[in-house]
Order: sequence, then C-alpha cells, then structure tokens
Amino acid sequence: MTTSTTDVAVVGGSTAGLRAAEAVARHAPELSVTVISDEPHLPYELPPLSKVALDDRLDVDALVYPFAAGLRDSGVDFRLNTRALSLDTKSNTVVLPDGTLTYRALVIATGCEAIVPPLFAGRPRVHALRRFEDATALRAAVADPEASVAVVGAGFIGGEFASTLVKAKRTVSLIDLAAKPLDRFGERVADAYAALHRDAGVGLFLGNGVVDITEEDGRRRLVLGDGTLVPADVIVVGVGVRPSIDWLRGSGLTFDNGILADATLRAADNVFVAGDIVRWPNARFDTAMRIEHWTSAAEQGRAAGMNAAKLISGAKGDDFANVPYFWSDQHGVRIQFAGHLTGDEEIVESSTDDGLLILYRRGEVVAGVLAFERRAQFVRLRALLRRELRWQAVDEFMR
Ligand SMILES: Cc1cc2nc3c(=O)[nH]c(=O)nc-3n(C[C@H](O)[C@H](O)[C@H](O)COP(=O)(O)OP(=O)(O)OC[C@H]3O[C@@H](n4cnc5c(N)ncnc54)[C@H](O)[C@@H]3O)c2cc1C
Repeated sequence: MTTSTTDVAVVGGSTAGLRAAEAVARHAPELSVTVISDEPHLPYELPPLSKVALDDRLDVDALVYPFAAGLRDSGVDFRLNTRALSLDTKSNTVVLPDGTLTYRALVIATGCEAIVPPLFAGRPRVHALRRFEDATALRAAVADPEASVAVVGAGFIGGEFASTLVKAKRTVSLIDLAAKPLDRFGERVADAYAALHRDAGVGLFLGNGVVDITEEDGRRRLVLGDGTLVPADVIVVGVGVRPSIDWLRGSGLTFDNGILADATLRAADNVFVAGDIVRWPNARFDTAMRIEHWTSAAEQGRAAGMNAAKLISGAKGDDFANVPYFWSDQHGVRIQFAGHLTGDEEIVESSTDDGLLILYRRGEVVAGVLAFERRAQFVRLRALLRRELRWQAVDEFMR
C-alpha cells in the first residue's frame, strides 16, 4: 500500500476531468495534478462512438484528445486503470486499490454510467454504449449484416446509433415507451424527430415498452406491451444514464440527482464537482440543473479546475453559469439546442426547406433555441443567447 500526495486530485479522466487538469496545469503550473481514471486510455472523445460509420475503424488513439498526451508530458500524473474506491473529506483523502492519495483540492468528475434494466442485464448480445470498449463490443456484435438490431430508447445516443446502423444497411428498430420521444421540446420537434427516423428506414415502435424477450430457432425477438414482436438478434439499450456516485457513499456529500454543489461548483471543503455528475445553481437560468452534454462537461471541468487552483492560492472561486448546449447528428441532420426549458414556454416556430428552427419564449426572456440543420442561423442565435436572454434581442435578430 502506498500513500501519496498531490496539490490537485482529479477523479475521472474523461471530458470534465481532462479540462480540470488542463486548467490547473495551464494557469497554476507550479501545482502538481494527479488524474485518477478507471479506464485504460488517456481521455478520449465519446461523441464519435455513436456516430462513426461502421465501415470505418474505431481507433482509440485517434479519439484521445491530442492535448492529453501533452499534459502527461508536462507532468500531469495520469493514473489509468485505477478506480477510486472511497473519499474521506475530513482527511482530504481518496482511497485507491493500492493505497491512498491525499490532496489539497479535489475535482470529482466521475460522470455517468449507462442504465441497463433487469430485463436486459446479463443477457448475451445486449449492449449499452458509454465507453470505448462498449463501442468496440457493439460494433463486433453488429458486424453480421443479417443480424437484426433493436435499439431500446429513442434518445440521442440510441437515435444516433440507429442512424449509423441504417447507413450501413442494417435492419434497425427503434423502440421507446414514450409515444413522442423528445416532446419535452414540443410536439413539432417530436414529430420531426420521428419522421427523420421513419423516412430513413428505421422501424419505429413508439408508446410501447418491452415486456419480454423470446427466442425461437436462434432468432431473438422483443415482446412489446401491445404484443408486437420486434426482431432483436442484437439489443442496444439506450434508456439513460445514472451519476457514478457509488464510490462516494459515506463521503458526506449531498446527492440529489447528482452531487449537489454551490455556484462555484464546490460540494464540500476543498471539493469541486464537474460534468455529468454535478447539479449546481445555474444563475443564467436562476435554477439548479444537471446537464449530460459534452460542452457543459468541458466548461465545468475548466471552471472547477480553476477554482481548485484558486482555493490553493487563497483566492476566491468564481461562480460558474452557462447556457447549456448540445448537438446530435442523425441521418445527416444536425440537431442542436441551446438553453434550458421548464415546459411552460411559448413555442415560436420557423420551418423552411433548409430545416426547422424553434425559439422558446418565457415571458420576456428566451429560454432556448433548437434547430434541425439551419446551422449558420443557429450558431448566431447561440452566440446571441450567450450574451443575453432578452426576447426582444432575439426577436430583432429574427426579423
Ligand atoms: C456515445 C456517446 C455519444 C455522445 N454524443 C454527444 C453529442 O453528440 N453531443 C453532446 O453534447 N454530448 C454527447 N455525449 C455526452 C458527452 O460525451 C458527456 O456529456 C461527457 O462526456 C460527460 O463527461 P464527464 O467527464 O462528466 O463524464 P464521463 O464522460 O462519464 O466520464 C467519467 C469518467 O470517470 C470514470 N470513473 C467513474 N467512476 C470512477 C471511479 N470511481 N474512479 C476512477 N474513475 C472513474 C469513468 O470511467 C469515465 O472515464 C455523448 C456520450 C456518449 C456516451
């Protein structure tokens, strides 16, 4: 057993963890940084895992963020294949399989893990998609062009992988309990999303859950609530994720749909949290939220790293606020959203041959903007939203 010390410990070596380490290394190079990651790779991009064409090789070296190797060369200690087992916030210590790591400031960035409901868990040829190894196993499973694939869950990752499969001429079914996936963005978006998949040749089964799985003559089928049978030699489960907090039980941190943090992303003395795992009060929208998208993870990682370095130097941390953003690529269409919706917004729609643009208005402010294509316009609107949320400003822009 070894005991070691570091100025800043980062637990979780993905989007948020890497940005935290980078922020410390760049802005306080005198501080030592140790990144604890249970993965065997340096931090790599997750978004391509659901999007890269099946014919193209998935190469982890090509996905690793180029600056990660630079950080390692400049002294950031990446401890790969190392799982943090527990946290003692009183002694500022992370317990590792081979010893302990004591920090002056900690950034928790352990993200989320895929949910696999009991009906699917432990069965052969059932896959979730969260890490590089998941993607390689899944791609091997769908290598046989005769194998039917059922994607359970029509969210972004399920939808993207269905799109990748259709492009490779596979038989794909997309199943969701919701009758109108994405209707949190309004009926128009839900209809456009369903049409996108249907027109591309995806078999859509909506408003119906999977209640059983049957196998006959070596061919597997999902049984839906209304008795429909869906071919499912390979099953992809995309029903959502849960924050990776198991290792933090007993740490004294507060969990409420993620780890609760304050506006500076601080969850306890000397402890900051960033990425998919944090729920924090976002002053930009005057509400607490947890975001499961790449850009927020990167931005929060950087902010948490900066605040960790500031804490050590005795400076006050900065509040973190942003306009959450995501993109998704499906069937050649880029879907993008910026903002935060609560469901009571007025929807202002602009549909043209170039795509669909939706503005969400709450009183005199803009709560969000969503686009199918209309890329140039979306980029400008998103930039505007980052500066101000007044409805009048966006209204003037649209005229
Ligand atoms: C297939 C896929 C496609 C995506 N596409 C998009 C997209 O198009 N657009 C978009 O906006 N977002 C997309 N996302 C979401 C985006 O990638 C995530 O929001 C982002 O990666 C979250 O980063 P994170 O660092 O908070 O968490 P994670 O990426 O979940 O990383 C957490 C890391 O911590 C490690 N870890 C967990 N527990 C421990 C422990 N106890 N000890 C040590 N290490 C631990 C995990 O193994 C992992 O490496 C996609 C995600 C996936 C999976």
